[in-house]
Amino acid sequence: MACDFLALANANIRSLSPYQPGKPVEALERELGIRNSIKLASNENPLGPPASALKAVQRVMGELSRYPDSNGHELKQALTERFGLRPECITLGNGSNDLLDLIARTFLDSDSEAIYSRYAFIVYPLVTQAVGARGVETADDDFGHDLEAMAAAITHRTRLIFIANPNNPTGTWLKTAQLADFLARVPSQVLVVLDEAYSEYVDDLDCADGLSLLPHYPNLIVTRTFSKAYGLAGLRVGYAVADEKITDLLNRIRHPFNVNSAALAAATAVLSDDEYLRRSVDVNRKGRAQLRQGFEALRLEALPSAANFLTLRLGTSAEQVYQRLLREGVIVRPLGVYGMHEHLRISIGTEDENQRLLAALEKVLAC
Ligand SMILES: *Cc1c(COP(=O)(O)O)cnc(C)c1O
Repeated sequence: MACDFLALANANIRSLSPYQPGKPVEALERELGIRNSIKLASNENPLGPPASALKAVQRVMGELSRYPDSNGHELKQALTERFGLRPECITLGNGSNDLLDLIARTFLDSDSEAIYSRYAFIVYPLVTQAVGARGVETADDDFGHDLEAMAAAITHRTRLIFIANPNNPTGTWLKTAQLADFLARVPSQVLVVLDEAYSEYVDDLDCADGLSLLPHYPNLIVTRTFSKAYGLAGLRVGYAVADEKITDLLNRIRHPFNVNSAALAAATAVLSDDEYLRRSVDVNRKGRAQLRQGFEALRLEALPSAANFLTLRLGTSAEQVYQRLLREGVIVRPLGVYGMHEHLRISIGTEDENQRLLAALEKVLAC
């Protein structure tokens, strides 16, 4: 007789829905028998990987029979120099997803609560539920973070508050004064996780910068990634910066070799590749303007965004438009999982990719 494995599973895991990644180009082409499709669904860097990183990966190929440096000494050194941090305050992760998971496992249990916005990264509820903690979701009229509501939701059980800044899936951001006022109100035994996956794209906007707030708020944890502006999503590497006692705790459950040698070498190299970063930000700025102009011509409106994607309000079922765009070979992201049924999230691509998206959108909306 078949065993009921579902019943065997830990109750927290049993009730989880898995993360839905953006559809890969290969999967779409296999399913529809089409070619030349483009993916603007996962906020990846449209420039392709930085040449400096590829060269660094080449150099470590001969060492792949060895375990990576568990402590990530060189990358931490590079981060230290770049941002004026202390290495004892840095935790490296297999992408920043790994770090979010480590933070939840370190500080949450079945008696505690984590607060996050219903319009913020879906990984926060995932890592919270996986450890059996209670997730407290706050709403926001502008699809970002209502800091008043988040502060009001704090109880004696609250251990973590997750904030994405700039936010995913909407691109909205919190200003320095807004976030500093909030942090001043959060009790010191509640940790605030500031997820800055898109901080490099911020440009000249007044968007809070976690690393400069860190010295004033010991209960702050800042996470960043090499997956977006640094163009290394496939290698999986990110970092968290926090008080060294917090860092020591995270290190206790971190898998000993959680960041591989190629990722370590590539991230170290790209950190001093100012030219690549400048180009990433530049192409993004131009693409954002190009898309906004195109949307306007279609009488559509996107939310304000400081990131490398735009969230478009359609005023009609986004799932249908998403499906039709797939048939045009354009993969974007519907946001039903966030309760945003009339919004599509569109990663900013190269000029050509943006043009293809706009043409496909025009065609799809006309029918
Ligand atoms: C893309 C993204 C990340 C990055 O995840 P990695 O695991 O570093 O690739 C983290 N947080 C948010 C909000 C993101 O959008």
